[in-house]
Order: sequence, then structure tokens, then C-alpha cells
Amino acid sequence: MPHICICSQFTSSPIDQFNKDPKASPIATNGEIFPWHELRLPTVIIPLHYDLLIHPNLTSLDFVASEKIEVLVRDATQFIVLHSKDLEILNASLQSEEDVRYRKPGESLTVLSYPAHQQIALLVPEKLRADLRYSVAIDFQAKLADGFEGFYKSTYRTLGGETRTIAVTDFEPTEARMAFPCFDEPLFKANFSIKIRRESRHIALSNMPKVKTIELEGGLLEDHFETTVKMSTYLVAYIVCDFTSVSGTASSGVKVSIYASPDKWSQTHYALEASLKLLDCYENYFDIHYPLPKLDLVAIPDFASGAMENWGLVTYRETSLLFDPKKSSISDKLWVTKVIAHELAHQWFGNLVTMEWWNDIWLNEGFATYMELISLNITYPELQFDDDFSNTCFEVIKRDSLNSSHPISNQAKTAIQIKEMFDAVSYNKGACILNMLKDFLSEDTFRKGIIHYLKKFSYRNAKNDDLWHSLSNNCLESDSASGGFCYSDSKKTSNTLVFLRKNVELKEMMATWTLQKGIPLVVVKREGRSLRLQQERFLSGVSKEDPEWGTLQERYLWHIPVTYSTSSSHAIHRHILKLKTDTLDLSEKTDWVKFNVDSNGYYIVHYEGQGWDELITLLNRNHTLLRPKDRLGLIHDAFQLVSAGRLTLDKALDLTRYLQRETSIPALLKGLEYLELLYRMVERRNISDVTENLKHYLLQYFKPVIDTQSWVDKGSVWDRMLRSTVLKLACYLNHAPCIQKATELFSQWMESSGKLNIPTDVLKVVYSVGAQTTAGWNYLLEQYELSLSGAEKNKILYALSTSKHQEKLMKLIELGMEGKVIKTQDLAALLFAIARNPEGQQLAWNFVKENWTHLLKKFDLGSFPIRMIVSGTTSHFSSKDELQEVELFFESLKAQGSHLDIFQIILETISKNIKWLEKNLPTLRKWLLITT
Ligand SMILES: [Zn+2]
Repeated sequence: MPHICICSQFTSSPIDQFNKDPKASPIATNGEIFPWHELRLPTVIIPLHYDLLIHPNLTSLDFVASEKIEVLVRDATQFIVLHSKDLEILNASLQSEEDVRYRKPGESLTVLSYPAHQQIALLVPEKLRADLRYSVAIDFQAKLADGFEGFYKSTYRTLGGETRTIAVTDFEPTEARMAFPCFDEPLFKANFSIKIRRESRHIALSNMPKVKTIELEGGLLEDHFETTVKMSTYLVAYIVCDFTSVSGTASSGVKVSIYASPDKWSQTHYALEASLKLLDCYENYFDIHYPLPKLDLVAIPDFASGAMENWGLVTYRETSLLFDPKKSSISDKLWVTKVIAHELAHQWFGNLVTMEWWNDIWLNEGFATYMELISLNITYPELQFDDDFSNTCFEVIKRDSLNSSHPISNQAKTAIQIKEMFDAVSYNKGACILNMLKDFLSEDTFRKGIIHYLKKFSYRNAKNDDLWHSLSNNCLESDSASGGFCYSDSKKTSNTLVFLRKNVELKEMMATWTLQKGIPLVVVKREGRSLRLQQERFLSGVSKEDPEWGTLQERYLWHIPVTYSTSSSHAIHRHILKLKTDTLDLSEKTDWVKFNVDSNGYYIVHYEGQGWDELITLLNRNHTLLRPKDRLGLIHDAFQLVSAGRLTLDKALDLTRYLQRETSIPALLKGLEYLELLYRMVERRNISDVTENLKHYLLQYFKPVIDTQSWVDKGSVWDRMLRSTVLKLACYLNHAPCIQKATELFSQWMESSGKLNIPTDVLKVVYSVGAQTTAGWNYLLEQYELSLSGAEKNKILYALSTSKHQEKLMKLIELGMEGKVIKTQDLAALLFAIARNPEGQQLAWNFVKENWTHLLKKFDLGSFPIRMIVSGTTSHFSSKDELQEVELFFESLKAQGSHLDIFQIILETISKNIKWLEKNLPTLRKWLLITT
């Protein structure tokens, strides 16, 4: 990028020609012209090394700091532009290499500030010369931030009731600039030498191990950390706290430690075991050593997201890292393991190889999400995560089948747009298309390809095409010359050879998945021995009869690696569907055909003609003739097709009739999930006849499943998941034996003053039933304050949110806003839970409308909590009045300057719900009358 100058004394670049309008010049806070008007920084100066000295004061809640940045000038320039947000710059000076060598003092620089772009410009008296290095020194100070970004304060309560403060960083994507002036873009990788001053009662942690501690006058201590490897600013991290830790050593010698506040130390052991296993697993799988000597994982009491992968110093929300054997359920265990696996995968995907720009954040997040599957299958096969992965894809299909979705690789310029990129499309869809690609290329080829990619781009940045190139099995000469990793074509499988003879095809194929939004629908029609295939864009909420359908289909085409199996062979057949229509010939006569084997592909399948009937008959006759994940996929696709008006609801419901005999728990749970969804929808709308009949149907039809559940923690992961889900549903439906048992356990627990250990998998159900009386609710709130287990607190908070009393729900919201008893970090989940409660839905929504500006003081616009709050309190609406109300509110926000992607998603979702009910409610009513 050429640099742009607007001041006449500077050399003009060609771009200046288009920018003569003085009104277009940004004006700095002091009234002078700010010399740079782009959001992205100029590339004429690149940072090489940062020396940072930070001194936070945990009593006055602020910090003073200084830095020295060594930069390389690539093109002569008269100013240096850096990112800086909410920092008070005290002074800035510059030394040339010569000045440094002869210890000449730095020259003082004029500092201009342009807050709209979060930039400062340092004006130098004499032009900086190309190809020379300079050292920029800046002194600055600021308050510790109030929220969850930059260098912020976090507090926790000790067992003795004392509140203690710690200081912690969280920079991704664009908040390093809140902690120190820097070149805050992922492409500007540099080395960092960090020093932190602290009191003796605290410890300091950073990305690298501590080299030494110096005692300063007045008793302060100064920790010096080793210089980091070359990395992006968003991965820098430091913490000042009084935490304690457990440590172990990985096979490669890396020291791994888990830190938590002292009273929670006993909950750190599972995380240590898991992270040691997972680190070993990744080092082997990637064939690349974790490059730092240590890895710390820290449980932070106030944290906006789930975790953050800072290199060598990974930070977690407490519930994503700590495991309390007495209070954490099996799904808590799966969650903790998954999050650790995700963040450790980032140490390679993201930290070692970083996307060039945030538009390709999926290269970080899609991979880290996908690696959860790979690494958990290797390290914890007993967690059977493989069977859960399809849900990762099903979750994003909801979003991706709306017209308001976006391509995986999407434009992102402003800070809000960058934040919005951290969504299900980048994480889940990214992971799902990688899984599809692995299935297509074979595990071996895929693995070798990603090793190639990681080795080639280590300590550098990459974009989509670099990945496709590495995966296409092609060795570059430069790879061999540099001793890079390479392998021969002969290892390709025969299946993929046909399609992937040229690497350009992989790039072309994957472009249809990453540069184009949405998900394809494959329509299959069997005519004798031939299969007619057709692809179109799948849109839930828009049926073929709708006038807009045609326009929404235009120009959409995918290269779909389809797979199928038939009644006549167990083999997996493969084909790439590149055209709108295609025909396949079957070698034998067959009774049925099932596409998307094991649900590995990212597409939905519709069977025209007798196709669905054949499959329904098959499931009823002998469901085990289909693979478990195929049964799971059929249930999912059938209900999706109902939303798109391609299948009638009674057909989808008929498909679930075999579930009584279903032996695969994930498939059973998927069917139950859809039925529960229907129940909650009619319950919310007060459609009492359907609600009652559906309740009756669920309790009767699934009686054998409900009755066999025991109230103990035992069995496989899926046995335990089934127990939690089924009992929660049974009690929600007021099933007398369930309520009775839960009430009994709750009373015993209260009588034991909370000391009784209730089986963890039924804890949520027991608390929820207990929360229905005032005494129980009040007792739970007391226990919430006292509990030291995040896992238990989450369950209690959920239970409290199911109360039928509005004043109790309002009290919870007030506590969440106050942020003491219920932490601000849990406010979004709380509002989400209250909005799910039919008694709380209107309350939560009214609260959000009336307190929007207060909420924006707590969370940034575009941040995950804000998006969760908005969608959590509105996206279940299903009436025209509600839609209008939400539209009006969003319009008023837009008028105030808030533009969020989520608004469009929600409006589309509510419209979809309205259509769904209009179309399917009569069918549901009729089906229940016939069936029950
Ligand atoms: Zn991540």
C-alpha cells in the first residue's frame, strides 16, 4: 500500500490525486490535520521489536507504562502512524540507529491523535530514511479498563468474603491498542520483551517465562520476561494477580501450569491432565514442536467470551477451564475439554500461522474448532465427541440458510465489522467444510496438507489460497530448497486423484464454499437405476412458491463432493456435483438410497418422489440398516425441509415415529430436540389444545425412555447426556414421578445445608424444580452467592431463571445489571435464559429495549454478549405484532447510528417463524389428533 500524505511538504503519492478535498482530511484532536486517513495503517514502517515496561496499580486501578519500538523504514516518510485507544500519551521521542549506538538522547516528537480511527501520528522533524532502523520511545498512562477488553480489572471473592482485584489483558481482535500504542494489525508481527512492576503480594505472568526479578526502591518488584517469538499484537498478554497453580511437564519438556484464584485451586487438576494430553497430541499431529518453553492456562473471574489463545498464556472464563468433580456434569467436562483443545490448537492455527487480515478469521477459528474433533478423538475417545460434531454443523445451518448470512471469507473493515466476524459462520461452518474436505481428500492427505501449510507459513501470515495450495499436494521448489516439508503425489487415494489432478480445482471447489454464502440443497430423484441430481441454494423460510425464490437462487453454484450408500452395497460412493443438474447410474437395482454418508458433507438432501417414504419405511422396519449418523442426518434434514416448505410437517413427524426403538442416543436426542422445539413454540403462543396434546404425546410416547432413567451419575457420556436431557424435559412437562424425585432430592439438599452431593447430571433439573417455591428460590440465590464452583453457579442461575414469578425474574436482571452477586459476564446468558421462560419472554425484551444505552456501557456494540442479548430476547418471536415491535426498535437504533448484522438476521428469523406457524400449525394439530 502506498503511503498517503495530505500536507504539502510531504511527497505526494498517486492516490493523493483523488483526495484533494480538504474536507476529507481528518482533523486531529488539537485541530491540526492528521496525516493519514485510512483505517488500515501505512506499510512504509514495520515494527520489529517492542520493549514494554508496565506498572499497574491495583489500588488506584490505573497503570503507567513506557515502550520502545524498533521499526524498519521501508520508504522515506515524515510521520509514523500507530494505533492507540484511550491512552494518555505523555511524550514520544525518536532515535536513529546511530543515536542508539552513540547513546544520543532521542528527539522529541509531536504527537497527533485521531480517536475516530484509534490512531496517533508521530511527526518527525526530519524525514526518516528508507531501509534504516529507528527506535521510537513512548511514555503513556491510562485507567485499567472497566469492561473485558484491553488491560482491564477483574475481581473475585475469597472464601472469607474478601473482594480482591487482579489486572488482566484481552486484546483480540483490536484491543492491544488500549494497553500500549502499537501497530495493531495481525500482519505486523514482531518480538516483544516485557517487564512488569508489581507489589510482592502479587505475581506477574506473561507470554514467556520470567528471566529474573529485580527489587526496586520502595519494595516494588520488577519481573523481566524472555523475549517472545515473532507474533501479532493481539496475542500479547500479561496478568498481575495472586493466583496459585498446578504444573506438569509435557513429553517434549514444555512446562504446563493451570492458574486459578487460591480458593479454586482444587478445581484445576482436570485441566492440567487434559492440557498435557492435548499438547502432546498436537505436537505429534502437526509434527511441529510447541515453540515456547511454557504454557500457562489461567481462569479469569471476569471474561467476556469462552477463552483467548494468547501465546503461552491462554486465558479462560472460569467455567471453561475449571472442573469441580462434585458439581461439574458430563457436559461441563466435555465443554472444558473442548475449549482447552480449541485454544491449544490455536497455538499453531492462529499463533504460529496467522491470517493476513480479519476477513479470513475462519483460518484461525474454523481450524481451531475443527481440531477439537481431531484431538478429542485421539486423546479422549471415551468422550465420544465424534458423535457430537454433527451438531456443530447443524447449529450453523440455521444461520447459513437465511439470506442475511455471509460468506466465510468476508469483508471486514471497521472494529465492529471485525468483531462481527467472530460468529458461527467463521467457527462452525469453517470447521464443517474442513471436515467435508478431509472426508473427500482422505485423513492422511488432509493431515499432510495442513502440516505443509503450518511449516511453510510458520511465524508468518496466510490467506485462503495458501491453504488450498498446501492441501493440493504440490511441492514448490522453494519448499525443497528451504528444507520445507513435501510429499509425493503417489500417496493420493484413487478416489481423489480423478478430481484433484490439478491443484487449481481444489481452489475452485473451495471458493464455492468460502467466497459464497449459504448452503446447498441436493435434490435426488430415483428413476429406475438412474439418480437425477439437482442442486439449488437452500433457504429456510422461503419456499419455491414465494416470488423472491428465483432471485435468491441466481448465480449460486457449489462444487459439492457428494457421497451416498444404497440398499445393495455398504460401499460409500463418491461424486462431485459441479453442475446444476447431473445424472448418476446405479450398477444394481436398489430399494433405497441415502446421500451424505455420516453427515460429513455440508449440504441438505431432499428425496423427491417416493424417496422419503422409502426411508421412513426403512427406519420403521430396521433402522440399523442405516448408519447412526445417517439416521441423525435424516432427522435434521427432514425438519429443515419443513421450514423450506419442501416436506410436509407430518412426514417429518412420521420419520420420528421409529425413535422409540432408536439405539443411537445422538439420533434420539436430535428427534427429541425438534419435538421439544415444537412444544416450546406452541406453549409460548398459548395454543393450549396443541400444547396439551403434544405434552401428552411426548410423555406417553417416550415413557419407556423416561422411566428407565436413573438419578445417578453412571454410564457412557451419551447415557449421561440422555439422562440430563430426558429428565429435564420430563420435569418441564410436569411429569409427576420426575417432579416427585427432584423435589425429594432438593429437600434433602436444603436440609443438609447444601452439603449433600446430588448427582451432577441431574443437578440442573433438581435445582429447577426446587426454584419453583419461594423458599427454594431464595435458598438457591443464597447458595449462588456462596458457591465457589462456576459449574454449579451456572446451574443455579438457570434454575432461578425458570421461576414463574415476574418479580423474581426482575430481581435477577437487577442483580445482573449491578454486577456484584451476578457478574456482568453472566448477564447475556441470564437474559437469554429468562427470555426462554414463557413468563419471562416479554419482561426480558422490554428490559433490553428500555435499557439499551446502559447495556452498551457494559458491552461493545458488535461484541458477542450484545449479539447474544439481542438475539436471545427476540429471535423466538413468531407473531406479526412482535415483528413490528422489533422492527421499530431496530429502526430507532439505526437512526442513532447502530448498525449490526444481527438486526437483519433476527428480522428474517421472526418472519420465518411466522410463516412456519401459519403453514404448519394446522398439520401439527391434525397429526396429534390422529396419532394420540
Ligand atoms: Zn478460537
